[in-house]
Amino acid sequence: MNKLYEQMGISPEVCAFSERILNGLKERFEEIDTRAEENQLRVIKAMQKNQVSEACLLGTTGYGYNDLGRDTLEKVYADLFEAEDALVRPQITCGTHALALALMSNLRPGDELLSPVGKPYDTLEEVIGIRESKGSLREYGISYKQVDLLPDGAFDFENIKKAIGPKTKMVTIQRSKGYDTRPTLSVDRIGELISFIKEIKSDIICMVDNCYGEFVETKEPTMVGADLCVGSLIKNPGGGLAPIGGYIVGKKDYIENCAYRLTSPGLGKEVGASLGILPQFYQGLFLAPTVTAAALKGAIFAANLYEKLGFTVVPNGKESRHDIIQSVVFGCPEGVISFCQGIQSASPVDSFLTVEPWDMPGYDAKVIMAAGAFVSGSSIELSADGPIKPPFAVYFQGGLTWPHAKYGIMNSLEAVKKAGILSKEALL
Ligand SMILES: *Cc1c(COP(=O)(O)O)cnc(C)c1O
Repeated sequence: MNKLYEQMGISPEVCAFSERILNGLKERFEEIDTRAEENQLRVIKAMQKNQVSEACLLGTTGYGYNDLGRDTLEKVYADLFEAEDALVRPQITCGTHALALALMSNLRPGDELLSPVGKPYDTLEEVIGIRESKGSLREYGISYKQVDLLPDGAFDFENIKKAIGPKTKMVTIQRSKGYDTRPTLSVDRIGELISFIKEIKSDIICMVDNCYGEFVETKEPTMVGADLCVGSLIKNPGGGLAPIGGYIVGKKDYIENCAYRLTSPGLGKEVGASLGILPQFYQGLFLAPTVTAAALKGAIFAANLYEKLGFTVVPNGKESRHDIIQSVVFGCPEGVISFCQGIQSASPVDSFLTVEPWDMPGYDAKVIMAAGAFVSGSSIELSADGPIKPPFAVYFQGGLTWPHAKYGIMNSLEAVKKAGILSKEALL
């Protein structure tokens, strides 16, 4: 095996160091496999209950009336999330679109949206109107309030209570820390927060941004009181096979509002041809539990490897996981750049490219991105990125298979080693 790795550019020192780290992770990995097993059974059960058939894999064209596969897939998602209804569509273009859809369909002028967990994901700033943008909620007279987490990551219950008023119609809770430094929320903590909010005002619609969280636990936010739960199919639930799409699951009335907005009032879920995409949606969902498990193992391996080398890693090597994102703080640009180049050159696609930092629109520093993916921009596939500014942290996620995640991380270490930022004894 080491010979094979050597042919793939991995030195014997990196191989040996990686094996030592992995020896300490056996129990952790067993727990992940057990969770994947449970989630796999949940997915199969939902497919069997709804009688997924060969006919479901055929698509429709044109208006897409009576699209058996599309309608059945939405029932599968609803059952899997223990929700009343679901909207799972290729016409939902990405995660941001799904979140914008859920918000805009259920808020009306004069309503207020509250985030009780601090600043939402970057792209939502323009949806909400925190940053000026055409067509934002703000432009439609929908106001926004935010209560930050306390310095130790706890909910600020006192100020959340104060922030809820007669206008508060909807609450948005982001499960994953995204590119922030706060801890990711467990499903149980999300449940606690929702109970607290509903006790103050029972008719508030609680929406959870579930991106990167699906199948990391054996529960999803709709099982602990979330009224709507939203995500992207080019992350966990698409299993790497879905080439586009988003999902919204939750209460029937709220999903209906989403469908009326996605297509048209009066038409709702009845239209929207699935074309030829359903096999990838079904098979991707079927694979999602084990794909997510592979990504999780990669994140935990990277955390322990780089922690051992003296770098700050978030989450740390021991913490429990509620999403698949791992960050490593290098403290210097060379660390971020070499890490990303190592990930890129370990990819099945575009491995021969050398990625460089560039001036990406919307960012205040140069950003470097590594993604040698089959689906463009897919972040359930092995991928990494980082802004070239202090603290020089890289964000890493994905890996469709554990062996690829492992090789990618070993290759990143090889690149970091070659960049000369490790001490001579680091790998001994
Ligand atoms: C990825 C992500 C989004 C946005 O999804 P896109 O598909 O990139 O538009 C929103 N919220 C969180 C937490 C995410 O991770």
